[in-house]
Amino acid sequence: MILQTEALNTYYGASHILFDVSLQIESGQVVVLLGRNGAGKTTTLRSIMGLTPPRTGKIFYKGRRIDGLPSYRIARLGLGFVPEDRVIFPDLTVRENLEIAQKAGAGEASWTLEKIFGFFPVLEKFQNRSGGTLSGGEQQILTIARTLMGNPECLLLDEPVEGLAPLIVRMLGEMIHQIRDHGVTLLVSEQNVKFSLKIAQKVYIIDKGTIRYEGTVEDLKGNEEIKKKYLAV
Ligand code: ATP
Repeated sequence: MILQTEALNTYYGASHILFDVSLQIESGQVVVLLGRNGAGKTTTLRSIMGLTPPRTGKIFYKGRRIDGLPSYRIARLGLGFVPEDRVIFPDLTVRENLEIAQKAGAGEASWTLEKIFGFFPVLEKFQNRSGGTLSGGEQQILTIARTLMGNPECLLLDEPVEGLAPLIVRMLGEMIHQIRDHGVTLLVSEQNVKFSLKIAQKVYIIDKGTIRYEGTVEDLKGNEEIKKKYLAV
């Protein structure tokens, strides 16, 4: 188990948002946290990263308690977070965006510029263009690639395909497979059921801040009742 949460309860002020959220993420897997708008997906990822710390509950990363640590230390331990709003430097080139994200030290630098370009040819093709001129989908790919340059062992992606065209969604699906093949564990929040079933080994369904379902992709595929009840498919 690389990442585990135990009964997280998270609040925004007086509003209780997450109710006893417990997740177990095995090393090397893609796990999807599936839920509708406002279900609590972003809050779960922010809780793990220490950006909106849970009021109660425990978080373990590689066996070590990380709840209560500041976000920068959580990131340094090897957890990468890609928020929903794409964060690139629009005036820097694609290549510069990647270069400044490269972290020195901390273990083996497994992602290099060459490797990123090899895996994601679109970034090599546009390496000298400024980030701001890329399409939304290309910016999302760049955002994920930037985070990879920090060599995370576990990557949290918040709704990576929201609002993107089908072709880019397919590219991102392949990108996620490649990242996993590279040994990175992924926790992906999603509303898109079809996409989730393509990328994941394990799925959690969250609704109103509560985990309603946990199972393998195969289990969920056959469970029409759960899909209808929580996912409106
Ligand atoms: P989305 O698809 O909209 O990102 P989500 O599943 O990620 O949905 P969250 O963003 O985690 O959902 O929001 C969960 C609940 O918390 C929602 O009811 C939302 O209105 C509320 N919420 C989110 N951010 C805040 C905030 N800063 N202050 C108060 N309530 C918030």
